[in-house]
Amino acid sequence: MNALEKYNRAQEQLKNYRYAANIISFDEATVCPKKDKRRSNEVSNYFSKLELDIKSSDEYFYNLEKILNTLNVDEITEKKIKKEYIELEKIRRIPKELLFEEYDLIAETGVSWEEARESLDYSIFEANLDKLVKMEKKRLSYLENKYKGYDVLLDEMEDDFTQADYDSFFELLESELMPLLDKVLKMPKKYNESIKNVKFDIDKQKKLTKKICEIMGYTDEVGVVAETIHPFTNGINSNDVRTTTRYDESLLFSNLYSVMHEVGHALYELQINPIFSETSLGGGASCALHESQSRFFENLIGRSKEFILFLYPILKDLFKEELKDYTFDDIYYYINDVSNQFIRTEADELTYPFHIIIRYKIEKMLFNNEIEVKDISDKFNELFYDYFKIKPSNKKEGCFQDVHWSSGFGYFPTYALGSAISSELLYYMEKDLDVKKLSKEGNLAPIISWLKEHVHQYGASLKNKEVIKKATGEDFNPKYYVEYLKDKFKKIYNL
Ligand SMILES: [Zn+2]
Repeated sequence: MNALEKYNRAQEQLKNYRYAANIISFDEATVCPKKDKRRSNEVSNYFSKLELDIKSSDEYFYNLEKILNTLNVDEITEKKIKKEYIELEKIRRIPKELLFEEYDLIAETGVSWEEARESLDYSIFEANLDKLVKMEKKRLSYLENKYKGYDVLLDEMEDDFTQADYDSFFELLESELMPLLDKVLKMPKKYNESIKNVKFDIDKQKKLTKKICEIMGYTDEVGVVAETIHPFTNGINSNDVRTTTRYDESLLFSNLYSVMHEVGHALYELQINPIFSETSLGGGASCALHESQSRFFENLIGRSKEFILFLYPILKDLFKEELKDYTFDDIYYYINDVSNQFIRTEADELTYPFHIIIRYKIEKMLFNNEIEVKDISDKFNELFYDYFKIKPSNKKEGCFQDVHWSSGFGYFPTYALGSAISSELLYYMEKDLDVKKLSKEGNLAPIISWLKEHVHQYGASLKNKEVIKKATGEDFNPKYYVEYLKDKFKKIYNL
């Protein structure tokens, strides 16, 4: 067997292990009974470890090296192997026991987060989180090279975005948007606020989910919308990308936007060139680019006046009783209502980046050894008050409302970066397409095709910065985000 045959055989094995781990973890998050979640985690970890065992072996690594040095392979195979080689070169610096230990700890921390949400007793979760932070610091110490500490983590999530980049990005957002936010918060509400108390039948909400999936071209041939506390998307391969949402009678719009968000992620995965499926070039180019796609549909399309004009008759028809007293304006201004409230995922577009900045600052302090896990809650509340003038009354609506920290750090800032990238993409898309007209017609197909051509098809075969450059002709530029937000909210509030 030559080196390439060996590689292909190992790939088959790796794909199968990854497939098994993915399916089990999706099951664990959606339908697995509570009492069996630990067991479910154990089994999915078992497969992840089998995968890591092969990938981190000398045999696999040197075989990659052999192919790259001695064989003439096609361009795509070479790209796949090179990408794996670079990743493995990093992983191999970390002791395998540490990686395995971290897999187990992450699984345990996730379960303890869910349990803490119910009991409001976060002590076990915090103890796990403390271990996780220490373990992460240790892991990062093996990877320090071009970057140190928290920058290693940020670079892992987003190639070459460091604290210096995020600091200047966030400073720009603060200086440009804070004055606007202050003004907006003083303005009277433009909608009938009783809409907040309307209860929406869950079965009808499910019909709306179906309708939205249809409009976005996300069919049950390739996907599913299951239910979880924290909605997410799991891209198994180019034929199977699963999403979740959360239903609550009081939160129709939360479900609507959660579906648009996750289906945005799903479309990205589904439109990647299938030759990359289940390889190192599959999946999105980066976390931020992935978030740019979900937030594009959630906000730039979903919360636009034009799309609401399209959706309004559908909503009125579906929720005849519930919405009988509410006009188009009530809905449009309600879903774009700017307010200081606790929950990040419920935040309007204007306050959203500040929810992210708070989490970024906490992570930075943690990894720069300025605070410890036990200080997170106080520090979070203090920062929350600085930005929003309100203080969370418990950790469920405060520092630990999100599941993210139970599996690691460095992800939050990519949400804000993703939002900014989506505005830059929209600016350039509008040069090719009449996005407003298409949104008003509910005809999203040309928009989805544009994204396929300019962003999705490449998968992870290009880096984030390369995709942005290809799609827009320029580098990442946060000015489009600032302009988009200013323009939108000045219009809404007549400022
Ligand atoms: Zn997302």
